[in-house]
Amino acid sequence: MDDSLRELYQEVILDHSRHPRHFGKLEHATNTAQGYNPLCGDRITIYLMLGENGRIADVKFEGKGCAISQASASLMTDMITGKTITEAEILMGGFLNLVKGEKVEGLNEDDRETLNVMAGVSAFPMRVKCATLAWHTMKSALEGGGSAKTE
Ligand code: ZN
Repeated sequence: MDDSLRELYQEVILDHSRHPRHFGKLEHATNTAQGYNPLCGDRITIYLMLGENGRIADVKFEGKGCAISQASASLMTDMITGKTITEAEILMGGFLNLVKGEKVEGLNEDDRETLNVMAGVSAFPMRVKCATLAWHTMKSALEGGGSAKTE
């Protein structure tokens, strides 16, 4: 990755952490889950509303933690809104592979490009837990709620 691209990605992450999208509590959420990353102290609560058509109609999150954890949550809620559960699962799987530095398959071009912003995290194993917290929490919300913990 060249330096200018790296800088651009850092800008995007900072922007998301300072001005998180979809931040707040969702009234009438159909599913919620809480996530905690004990290594860094990051906390996330995901609220989502499943529509009758099987799509994720709305997503919000609340949380406190480092810039990476909050930016990742913001980015995720932005990307996952309007997707079907199957599409969301593909996205979540792709993201987890990406930040672990593994091969990413099955994502469309747009999603792939957006997720690339977080790819630099794979070089920092401690930060991977921060980046994946929101995604693990989203997964447990989709599976019916409860709590997620990154180990
Ligand atoms: Zn963190």
